[in-house]
Amino acid sequence: MISLPNDGFLKLTIKDLMIPSERVAHVQVGNNLEHALLVLTKSGYTAIPVLDPHYKLHGLISTPIIMDSILGLERIEFEQLEKKRVEEVMKGSIPRVKISEPLKKCLELLVNQPFLCVETEDGYFEGILPRSTVLNQLNKIINRLQNSKN
Ligand code: AMP
Repeated sequence: MISLPNDGFLKLTIKDLMIPSERVAHVQVGNNLEHALLVLTKSGYTAIPVLDPHYKLHGLISTPIIMDSILGLERIEFEQLEKKRVEEVMKGSIPRVKISEPLKKCLELLVNQPFLCVETEDGYFEGILPRSTVLNQLNKIINRLQNSKN
C-alpha cells in the first residue's frame, strides 16, 4: 500500500495541471455545425468546449451530438450541418470546476469524465483538465515514491 505524501500530489492546484484556454480547441455558440465538425475532426477530439465571444463557457459539443442532430428518419441530413448552430444542439450541463477548487474535487469528477472545463468564479473559460494529465502526474509521484523506497 502506497500513501501519498501531503506535500506531493494534493499540494498541486488545478492551475498547475490544466491545459490553458489558448491551447484548447473550441467553437463559438454561433458557429454552424459544419464548422464544429471540421474543428472536431481536425483536432482529433470527440468533444470540445463551446464559448461565447467573451470567453464565457456555455457547454460542450461532440461528434455524436452533431451526428444525432442531423439524423433524419431515413437518411443523414447533411444539409442541416450548414443550417444549425452549435448552441441549438450543444450539451449545456457539463462537468465544470472553478479554478480555485481543490484537486481532490477534480479527482472525484474525473472518475466519470474524460476532462473537466475550468472556469473563473464568473464563468469565464480558463482551460481544461484532462483525466490523462492527472493520471500522468499521479503515476510520476508513485514511481518516485517506489524508487525512493528501493
Ligand atoms: P486526453 O486525455 O488528452 O485524450 O483528452 C481527453 C479529452 O479532453 C479529449 O478527448 C478532448 O475531448 C479533451 N481535450 C484534451 N485536450 C484538448 C485540447 N487541447 N483542446 C480541446 N479538447 C481537448
